[in-house]
Amino acid sequence: MKEMKQSKPLCDICGVNEAVYTCKICKRNVCKEDFDEDKGICKICAATLCQICNSRLSVTYCPYCGRLVCTEDSIQLDNVRRVCIDCYRNGAIKLSKNNSKYINGAIKLSKRVKIV
Ligand SMILES: [Zn+2]
Ligand SMILES: [Zn+2]
Ligand SMILES: [Zn+2]
Ligand SMILES: [Zn+2]
Repeated sequence: MKEMKQSKPLCDICGVNEAVYTCKICKRNVCKEDFDEDKGICKICAATLCQICNSRLSVTYCPYCGRLVCTEDSIQLDNVRRVCIDCYRNGAIKLSKNNSKYINGAIKLSKRVKIV
């Protein structure tokens, strides 16, 4: 027979306090201290939450506005960059060809400025 002495689970984050909530994103059992009641998620997830939808974990941050964004709320700009849908919709960024033109233009401009 196995002994089941643990009646109350401990918080998966601090390991000290009694877990009273379950994070809806990562499913960790967490104590009151480590839980964000407004969002219904643990503090760890709250720190990495998408700042647009506030419901999914972010995968990157937008290089233009600096906000954390999830895959759903961001658009792949090139191999390395993703921008948030807000910046994209605001027309701050043009995709692919237009974008590289813009970058080339900016490089030329900066060279010109240096020479002068
Ligand atoms: Zn805790
Ligand atoms: Zn969590
Ligand atoms: Zn999102
Ligand atoms: Zn942005």
